[in-house]
Amino acid sequence: MSDLRGGIDLGGTKIQTAIVGAGGEVHGEARQPTPTSGGPADVARAIEDALREAASAAGVKPEDLAGIGVGSPGDADERTGVISSARNLPGWDGSFPLGETLAKAFGTEVKIGNDVQVAVEGEYALGAGKEFESLLGVWWGTGVGGGIILDGKPWLGRGAAGEIGHMVVKRGGAKCPCGRKGCLEAYAGRSAMEAEARREHEEGHKTDLFKLMHKHEKPRLTSGIWERALDHGDKLTEKLIERAIEALGTGVASACNVLDVEAVVIGGGLGERFGERFMEPLVEEMDKHLFVNDRPPAIRVAALNDLGGAIGASLLVPK
Ligand SMILES: [Zn+2]
Repeated sequence: MSDLRGGIDLGGTKIQTAIVGAGGEVHGEARQPTPTSGGPADVARAIEDALREAASAAGVKPEDLAGIGVGSPGDADERTGVISSARNLPGWDGSFPLGETLAKAFGTEVKIGNDVQVAVEGEYALGAGKEFESLLGVWWGTGVGGGIILDGKPWLGRGAAGEIGHMVVKRGGAKCPCGRKGCLEAYAGRSAMEAEARREHEEGHKTDLFKLMHKHEKPRLTSGIWERALDHGDKLTEKLIERAIEALGTGVASACNVLDVEAVVIGGGLGERFGERFMEPLVEEMDKHLFVNDRPPAIRVAALNDLGGAIGASLLVPK
């Protein structure tokens, strides 16, 4: 058996796989679009194809890997390998034994974890968080997810810790995709930002956001479209991103008041694109809300990029 491990980042639009060495080096990788129809068994088959392709690029057979880790959306049970309510995957409202299915297909051990948590653990072990013993990961994308490392160990609570997107930043505030009001995600999640942009546009506010979306043939306002509009000096875009940064600063500083972590790592599609660009206003906003603000946490942008989720997932396999 080799000391190589497989890592799989199961996302709503793509499945990214990697074959990872003991030091985190990537020996082979492959990606596939996530099926948009069918059900969990079809998604499992697409995962299998992508992992086999990555393994063949690395010159190894899946059954010879030390194990394979999967970072999954939805409710991922690390103990049983069952994934439930992965609503951004096709036909996945119920439960499916993904771990067991893949273990049979590959002939090696398969571990399942939460997608954001494993990406945060990857940054902690090998990326932007490697010099720290405690950190809060803030994954700023379609929604706002999070993960916590305390004293060098992931803190999962009873399974649902780290949901920073649902920190309340304004009581009775904007409606969140979760159904509650005033959550951080209601101001900073890309879906919520798009809904707000659409509403203001329909009310007559000028913006190029939707023109750019059609021009680049995107079905939604992607991180790239937000960036283009910002570079064009689009006023509504500037306003909504400023609003998102204010909410992030408030929510992240509040979480830091509770956890007092050494560092905050910002990842996710919007986080990786805008983290450096908006570092200063984010730090300023946090400063307003940090109870002890003479030694603020270090703020870093995720460093493992596109492969971070898959590399982090590979770490689920015990050494
Ligand atoms: Zn919420």
